[in-house]
Amino acid sequence: MPMFDYVCRRCEHQFELLMRSHDVAQCVACGSANVEKRFSVPALKTSSTRGLAMHAAKRRDKVQATDMAVEQRKYEESHDD
Ligand SMILES: [Zn+2]
Repeated sequence: MPMFDYVCRRCEHQFELLMRSHDVAQCVACGSANVEKRFSVPALKTSSTRGLAMHAAKRRDKVQATDMAVEQRKYEESHDD
């Protein structure tokens, strides 16, 4: 069964529904059938989440590289013989 994101036009509640072909979507909060199917949201959510994760991973790599450089210098300083 496909799952869809909806937003209620009456109370602006956002929710997900499993829809069979002849079901009528209704707001889970207020029961209104005046709801809008949102196709673009899951795709947008996925790509922006992935972008943020990539950004965080890159930043983490940079921090680790800096830490390693500091550790290396400490090692060299303490083993100066
Ligand atoms: Zn509603």
